[in-house]
Amino acid sequence: MDLSAFPRVSLAVLPTPLQRLDRLTAALGGPEIWVKRDDMTGLALGGNKTRKLEYLLAAAQAEGADCVLTAGGVQSNHVRQTAAAAARLGLACELVLSRNVPGTEAVYERTGNLQLDRLLGATVTIHPAATDRDAVMAARAEALRLEGRRPYVIPVGGSNPVGSLGYVAAAREIAEQAQAAGLTIDHLIHACSSGGTHAGLAAGLSALEHPALLSGIDVEGNPDLEDQMLKPLAVATAAFAGIDEAGAAARVTLVQGYAGEGYGIPTTEMREAVEMAARLEGLVLDPVYSGKAMAGLIGLIREGTIAEHETVIYLHTGGMPALFAYPGFFSGETSS
Ligand SMILES: *Cc1c(COP(=O)(O)O)cnc(C)c1O
Repeated sequence: MDLSAFPRVSLAVLPTPLQRLDRLTAALGGPEIWVKRDDMTGLALGGNKTRKLEYLLAAAQAEGADCVLTAGGVQSNHVRQTAAAAARLGLACELVLSRNVPGTEAVYERTGNLQLDRLLGATVTIHPAATDRDAVMAARAEALRLEGRRPYVIPVGGSNPVGSLGYVAAAREIAEQAQAAGLTIDHLIHACSSGGTHAGLAAGLSALEHPALLSGIDVEGNPDLEDQMLKPLAVATAAFAGIDEAGAAARVTLVQGYAGEGYGIPTTEMREAVEMAARLEGLVLDPVYSGKAMAGLIGLIREGTIAEHETVIYLHTGGMPALFAYPGFFSGETSS
């Protein structure tokens, strides 16, 4: 696999650290757990979207874009990282957000990622849950073109073959880092939503013929995600990167059962997982993605799917700003 032909702009601090979680490993009585710190990609509080944006914004620059448009939920980490990347590259940024989590408190629209989007200078519009965000972006892009501007539209989550290249490259980074640390990776686990992270890792691991089993933990409760999004995106990413398509598709594995009632809606297992990571390791996870993924990891260990003698890398995809949009949720917090 050779990604050198694809334009890439440096936005992330790489490689991100790979750290052993001794106390969590001991508490769960078994598999050796390591964390790959993609929460520390370094741009405006970090996260997994920064690796995708290295390729997406290089493509935008190659097209001569002067502004980027993207979309997400009100507490989207992807839009926050896009706003930061655009600021760093001197591009204007417009964010189309939807109220995609029911029952949130008023503070939800004043703090966390949304507060940062505004600080980073992005233009934000907030729409009802059912809004067709792609249609809103397309219409806005057309209006900008009529004004003589050059917009570049990034899909939700940055999940297309261009963005997924960031995680094709990350697969190699993880494999090399593990090898240098003398680790044999049996499992690689991460939170999965719009699919670019999983598709890129599936293609990358396949190209490397790496034996690690990849598992994406579904954080949305979407039963069609694997067949309708992840496999097609893994195939398209592989084709784009010159990697065997069937091999990439064969790596796609979505683990269901940890999303609870849906995207952004807390679960008891997530609360336990976030508290364990914080209190055993000083590791801060988020309620929407990395917390549910950690709940998935804990569940897979407890049910024996991940065995005591194995080694697992938990990919921390970031998302911590969203913690502040859920005040009073974790035990020991006092809500006034
Ligand atoms: C976007 C996101 C994910 C999911 O990544 P996808 O590539 O969209 O599947 C996981 N964790 C965090 C914190 C995210 O922001």
